[in-house]
Amino acid sequence: MGNIVDFITGLFEVWRGQVSDPDKQCVFAFLLLLLAIDIARKGWRLSWSRRAVESVAATLAIFHINVVLVPAVWLLSEQLKALYGLLGIPSVPSTVWAGLPVWMLSLLAILAHDFANYWNHRVMHLKWLWPVHAIHHSDPVVNGLTTYRVHALEMLVMWGSYTILLTWLGLPADAMGIGALILVLHNVYVHVDVDWGHGPLRMLIASPRFHRWHHADEPAAYGKNLANVFPFFDWIFGTYRVPGPCRVVMGATGVPSNDVVRLTLWPLLEWARLGRQQLKGLRTSIGGLARDASLGKVGTLDTNAD
Ligand SMILES: [Zn+2]
Ligand SMILES: [Zn+2]
Repeated sequence: MGNIVDFITGLFEVWRGQVSDPDKQCVFAFLLLLLAIDIARKGWRLSWSRRAVESVAATLAIFHINVVLVPAVWLLSEQLKALYGLLGIPSVPSTVWAGLPVWMLSLLAILAHDFANYWNHRVMHLKWLWPVHAIHHSDPVVNGLTTYRVHALEMLVMWGSYTILLTWLGLPADAMGIGALILVLHNVYVHVDVDWGHGPLRMLIASPRFHRWHHADEPAAYGKNLANVFPFFDWIFGTYRVPGPCRVVMGATGVPSNDVVRLTLWPLLEWARLGRQQLKGLRTSIGGLARDASLGKVGTLDTNAD
């Protein structure tokens, strides 16, 4: 009982910390604004269909599981940073950035972050990391909160990739802070349940339509539109795809939609399945090789007999 009380008190403390953080207040206010627009647009009942309620409940549960796991993820990422430090990779001297306006440095921070994110995201769509990233794609009702439907292991991979790809830049902390806030707000925006495109600016700033096509559950859409902010990265690296208005099904076939326990365990379950599949394939090819060898032997005997 004491443990449960400690756990709830701990969660409450985390929440208090979140609520008193001005950056988080900004994100909450933005989420509330989006919610109000959504309700005004669709009406209360339509906005809160059973599917939407289940989706939001699952996302909030995953978010809270992550809140509990964040210290472990943070510790692991600190180890990774220490390892990175041991490599002694030179960083850009801070004097290079001196004198540049904060807005320019913040823009550079966002650009560098998005470049890192593009490759991080591309890797997450490969066979062995997909079970981790699939949690983000599992949402059948993509909405502002989907931003927070991320597996704890994905946070670790993301922090790791930013350490490797961004630390050497040594950008000032205030520029990184402003950049981080803009990134979160924009990330919430692209997940909003609307099919807005950005017309002539579509290659410059990612729109909800651009990101909805990334969440589309159809083979032609898989692994496309990987950039978070700048679609031109997708255009440059050949993964841009926005065929028009997005009115297709969202989600990921084969991945549980809102089963929080299975979603949390999903990477382990899938890695076990993939491992078994790999082993089966290996056994079949070894069996095939042995069969070929024995057939070859019979052939030789036959030849000798002739
Ligand atoms: Zn993705
Ligand atoms: Zn997304």
